[in-house]
Amino acid sequence: MSKEIVLRIQELYENWIKDDMTSLGSADIFANLLEYVKETQKDICGKCIPCRDGVPQIEKLLTKFEDGSVDKGQLLTLESYVQNLRSSKCSVGIDFGKTMEVVLRNNFNDFYKKVR
Ligand code: SF4
Repeated sequence: MSKEIVLRIQELYENWIKDDMTSLGSADIFANLLEYVKETQKDICGKCIPCRDGVPQIEKLLTKFEDGSVDKGQLLTLESYVQNLRSSKCSVGIDFGKTMEVVLRNNFNDFYKKVR
């Protein structure tokens, strides 16, 4: 997986500020997001719960989206873990959460079609 894709995902929130419709490409979206999660995990220090515990849970759920073994309840759970990241103590968790909120909002069909 290329560093370029991870950087593109990291820039998503900044781009979204300029263009509300900014979204990720649907091809390989879950594999790309999982790569983004792995990169984020390298920076997690473990001091606060929303990031320390939430990001690994988000990774588990994204894996289920990737392999198609997911249901609507898990989509709601994913949304709630992402929202919890707003209360992270530093920019690692907050920025990851803001980016994931943009993804959930503007790529919602990619998530929803997996649980229909
Ligand atoms: S949000 Fe910041 S303080 Fe909290 S666990 Fe992640 S890296 Fe540590």
